[in-house]
Amino acid sequence: MALTAMGIYKTLPKTNCKECGLPTCMAFAMQVAAKQKALTECPHVSEEAKDTLADASTPPMKLVKIGPDDKRFEIGQETVMFRHEEKFHHPTGIAVRIPASLSDDQAAEKVAEINTKCGFERIGQEIRVELCAVEIDGCSDPAKRAKLLAGKSRVPLILIGSDPKAIKAAVEAIDGQKPLLYKAEASNIEAFAELAASSKVPLAVGSQCNEELSGITKVAKDKGVEQMVLAFDGKNVGETLRLLTTSRRAALTKNFRALGFPAMVEISGEEPETEAIFAACFAAKYAGIVLIDGCEPWQLLPIMTTIQNIYTDPQVPNIVEAKLYEIGSPGQDSPVLFTTNFSLTYFTVEGEVERSKVPAYVCVVETEGLGVLNAYAGDKISSEKVVKTLQEQKVAEKVKHRKLIIPGLLPIFRAEIEDISEWKEVIIGPENASEIPAFLNKTWK
Ligand code: SF4
Repeated sequence: MALTAMGIYKTLPKTNCKECGLPTCMAFAMQVAAKQKALTECPHVSEEAKDTLADASTPPMKLVKIGPDDKRFEIGQETVMFRHEEKFHHPTGIAVRIPASLSDDQAAEKVAEINTKCGFERIGQEIRVELCAVEIDGCSDPAKRAKLLAGKSRVPLILIGSDPKAIKAAVEAIDGQKPLLYKAEASNIEAFAELAASSKVPLAVGSQCNEELSGITKVAKDKGVEQMVLAFDGKNVGETLRLLTTSRRAALTKNFRALGFPAMVEISGEEPETEAIFAACFAAKYAGIVLIDGCEPWQLLPIMTTIQNIYTDPQVPNIVEAKLYEIGSPGQDSPVLFTTNFSLTYFTVEGEVERSKVPAYVCVVETEGLGVLNAYAGDKISSEKVVKTLQEQKVAEKVKHRKLIIPGLLPIFRAEIEDISEWKEVIIGPENASEIPAFLNKTWK
């Protein structure tokens, strides 16, 4: 039976004590009804209410936490099949494999690469590889390898292996690191489940059949494992997408608890180009982790861009604050440009101005999150609005000159701004942000 926020609210203490992290009991009840919070997150809820509502109020997909507090990666607790129904909560993480065949020095070098080179800043957000997947099968000393790499990695570990004894040695060597154990199958679930339960670490469980998988998760749960990840093989893309979709649908729309866990896909043995394409496919539907071999920037960027786009919150406009931004350390002779408050537009302009190495002011005009042309077409920007924004942001006080660089897509603003404002030398800038560095270096002497 679906719970209403009011039905849940009636069972709460109604003290608004905020200990659940929300300002009121009603706000908490609404989140429980939306299955974004578990009833147990209120420390004051009565045992009677817990018994009555526990099952119905538990999120249909478990939240899985990998790694210690200072470098934790979380997946799961998704509530919808399609982003427009609400939003997706925990972005897919990329895990890069550290093969057992590497020497300790080579493995440490690859971890250092993941720490320092496998990330980008895009649209004002930092995106990076989230997990190191350390192969244990084939290591002569699993404990030594795990300890060495856990000490060097800035991100949490996945321990890859099929031998519970070797994995146990590795887990014990990195006590407190809470790695994800990858992976238990029907043949070894008993031993893996006992290890995961006693070590209090999450466990990946694998099968290419959802029916078998639900049986494996039940065995693990009976042994006391709470946090699991459904693991699929990425060799057959179509079949794996089907498994990802059907397991998620069973969890979210049928409330089928045995599959109520986030999923991951291992991609191995593919050409680097194919690997990147497969990983982006699985991130799109609905892998919480994609495990790959490559960590070249050209491979990672398309996967990360796909993830970033899919996990954008549709309820939050993609905007930056409309204010005067200083790029570099501009002074009284620095150029002044304006642009709109659409994040992608602003951060593209910001990046290109940075690349020009010419310190500058960028005046951001409020356009309800529309880019330059859309804002103009939708009547969200005009010469008058630009002039008013320049005045409100007191731009004239920052510079000695009265030169204003306008986007090349709005040449019509030139005469109008010169007519109605103190900015008497309006310069038409490039149409494409990528031309800004050459433009500034050529025109701004
Ligand atoms: S912790 Fe419980 S009692 Fe306190 S505000 Fe949250 S729901 Fe209400």
